[in-house]
Amino acid sequence: MRLPKVAIIGTGGTISGVGRDSLDFYEYSTSGRFMRVDELIATVPELPRVADIVPVPYNNIASTDLQPSDWLKLTTIINETVAADPTLDGVVLTHGTATLEETAYFLNLTVKVSVPVVVVGAMRPSSALGADGGLNLLNACRVAGSPQARGMGVLVVLNDEINAARDVMKTSNYRVQTFVTPDFGILGYADPDRVVFYRRPLRRCAPDTEFDVSGVAALPRVDIIPAYAGADATMVEAVVAAGAKGIVSVGFPSGSPSPAQKKALEQAAKTGVAVVQSSRAGSGRVVPSKESLLAAGFYGADTLTGQKARILLMVALTRTSDPAEIRRIFEEY
Ligand code: ASP
Repeated sequence: MRLPKVAIIGTGGTISGVGRDSLDFYEYSTSGRFMRVDELIATVPELPRVADIVPVPYNNIASTDLQPSDWLKLTTIINETVAADPTLDGVVLTHGTATLEETAYFLNLTVKVSVPVVVVGAMRPSSALGADGGLNLLNACRVAGSPQARGMGVLVVLNDEINAARDVMKTSNYRVQTFVTPDFGILGYADPDRVVFYRRPLRRCAPDTEFDVSGVAALPRVDIIPAYAGADATMVEAVVAAGAKGIVSVGFPSGSPSPAQKKALEQAAKTGVAVVQSSRAGSGRVVPSKESLLAAGFYGADTLTGQKARILLMVALTRTSDPAEIRRIFEEY
């Protein structure tokens, strides 16, 4: 039987990290040692049993160092890798977990390939006792090679669970069950007997999106401003002065900035800065049609977290600055 052919693109992170010894769970990143993708693949001798693997090196850095310019490059690499080899069944991206959900959502909006794209990381470095990266990588390859995973957008696989890029978030600093999809739950499991799905995402996702970043040299600057008791206008004014084209307010639940922030954000919106209101609750909608939001000229983030709303706004602004269009985009994606 032909095994699925899966490309693995390596970007570094804990999954490829090497600590000082097997009990180095906290400080391994200070060793500065990240395995290249071919070295990482060699640590999982079971991989050839589930897929025909094609390594694609990228850059061995922590995901905290990844930039929006990396997202653009990764979209291009994925598009080009699949275009160059029509026999590929799927793509896996190894990634640090800190910003994994951001890269995954960006790719979910921008890649143009019909094969599954799966983003995977690990919570323990490869050198640690109980390292989770090997099994996560094996499972990511099984999901990427699964015909059922097509049409689901970009997927995130860790801890045997399959999540949709739009909705997943890292929720714990150290636990292996850190990736959770609040409100909606996982899409399925990568279990030892088979990969099994129970639901599919309904919001628009790759490859059927209107966003084509192939000619985009740099993404527009969008900043995130958290709300907290007593927050003044300083941060809003600072990011406007820095040239922000958009601001995401991570507001008090159910979605509002502090009074001083609100005034400054309204002022920014009047000068053409796109302001999106999200909530720090981490669950539930920020209702886009709320009168107070519309009156302030803000867009509602719906269920997107602040970091995801920022990415959708950055991508939207590559296409349009028309408020009606931005509002539609936040309703569809
Ligand atoms: N610092 C790491 C990173 O995001 C954390 C991880 O990979 O889990 O690159």
